[in-house]
Order: sequence, then C-alpha cells, then structure tokens
Amino acid sequence: MNKHFLTFIAAAVILAAGCQSKSQSSTGGTDKTAVAAEETTTANTPTNSETEQPPAVDVSKIKVADAKTILARKQVPILCYHQVRNWKPTDGKVGKDYIVEIQNFKDQVKMLADSGYHSILPDQLYAYLNTGAPLPSKPIMFTFDDTDMDQFTVAAPTLKKYGYKAVYFIMTVSIGKKGKFVDYMTKEQIKQLSDEGNVIGSHTYDHKNFKKYQGKDWEEQLDKPTKKLEEITGKKMTEFAYPFGLWNAEGIPELKKRGFRMAFSLADKRDQNDPLFTVRRIIASGYWSPKTLHNSIVKSF
Ligand SMILES: [Zn+2]
Repeated sequence: MNKHFLTFIAAAVILAAGCQSKSQSSTGGTDKTAVAAEETTTANTPTNSETEQPPAVDVSKIKVADAKTILARKQVPILCYHQVRNWKPTDGKVGKDYIVEIQNFKDQVKMLADSGYHSILPDQLYAYLNTGAPLPSKPIMFTFDDTDMDQFTVAAPTLKKYGYKAVYFIMTVSIGKKGKFVDYMTKEQIKQLSDEGNVIGSHTYDHKNFKKYQGKDWEEQLDKPTKKLEEITGKKMTEFAYPFGLWNAEGIPELKKRGFRMAFSLADKRDQNDPLFTVRRIIASGYWSPKTLHNSIVKSF
C-alpha cells in the first residue's frame, strides 16, 4: 500500500535522527526527592545471572503505591541504548550520541559487571517501586529502543555473557525491515529475545510524538503495536517507552486504560502524580567511556 510505504519513509527519516529530543539531557533533571531515600537494596535476593528466567515476582498481587511513596524511593539507574555498531564517516555529530561502538559497548558492560551491578527487569522494578520489595545489590536496567538489529546480534550476546537481561522497546513499523542506516530485528529475533527471558515493550508504531496523539493515533500507535507484539511474544505488553522521551500528563490515562503498568521517558524530571509513567532513563552516549558512563550513572540517579 502506498500510504503504508509513505508512512514508513517518514518513520525512516525520524529514525535517522534517532530518539533525540531537545529537552533531554544526560545530566539534568535528577529528582532531588529521590536521592534522599535510604539504600533499600539487599544482596540476599537471588540474581538472574545463573538462570534463564529472572526471579519470579507475583506482580498481579501488587497494589499501586501513592506517588509520594514511589518518588521517595531511590531511583534505579536505567540505561537507554539505540545502535551498537562502529561509527561510519556518514554518521553525524549528534547521531553518534545514539551509536555506541561495539568495543566500547563491550567495555561498558564489562565495567558494570566488574563494578558489581546486577540487571533487573520491569517486574522487579515495579515490585520495588510499589512495595519496597528488595532488589539485588547495585541494580541496573538495560533498555534498547527502536528495534535495531545490532541489539540482537551484538548487544544481547554481550549481555548474556554476564548473565544480564534487558528490555527491548520495539517500534512495530520497522520489524523485519532493512533501513538506509541500519537493519531491524525480525519477528523471530524479537521472539527469541523474549523467550530467553528479556522483556519486550512497546515503542509505538512509527515513533510519532506521543504529545501529539489524537483520534485514531491511540489505536495506530498503541493498540495495534500491542496486538502485534503480543502475537509475536505470546506475552502481555505492560511497558511503554515514549518516542524521543516526550510525554504529557494528558496522555498517561490512555496508557493506563490499555493495561500499561509503567512508561519510560528520558532524563527529564518525573511527573509528580504519575511517577510510574515517567520512569527516568539516561542515554548511554556513544561518546562515553566506561568511566564516563559510571560517573553519569552515579550522578543522574
Ligand atoms: Zn525511539
């Protein structure tokens, strides 16, 4: 269909620019309220490093806590990655923030493992934020946006080496496509990531700015992608990542209505009423050495 093709071209143009937004910054936006909370993690919780599946958390029984309680808990560092590949001469200056070179990615992950970080997944974060359920020591969450194939071919095997699991936020228009700059994951690859104990989340149909949704957008950008991803994985979609990290409070009820439990933004401040729908992440920049990444983790969360 012509219309579909044009939409995809439009998406490809957006993709070329990555997930960037003017409002994001890797260091700003730290919630002062959250830093004050006591360290509540414990080393007694089993980690996911030895098993294929993360520790079971019965999230169905969890009652959502009030915003103040959630905001008072110390934030878990969450990293957002896009492309994991070596830079090309055609890559722009801004674009390189979104492209972590292969050896640098391996070094970053090794640094985190050597520093004692344990990867956690949304179930654990959700339980922790709502009930204070213990997390492994030095918890961290890895997230990957935009469906790039190198996340499957490069990032996932690297993480696996250290027993780490991750969340992959899929933009459904790109599934199985070959792009001008990168190729995208196939259905089978997404299914494999899911089967191996990683979490698949929604990143809309074609990356349209969430703040501009109206009318049919909710169906196109939320309902249809959810249906597609649930068909691929056989699991319920409960996590959402805002394109460009951009969100507005008016849209959050639309996510809740559709069964999403948490939504992930970028470095901006969390919403004071809906912190579960404005979970902060930082972009692990392609310019950062492992040391810079470590400093940013400590400073930003
Ligand atoms: Zn994105």
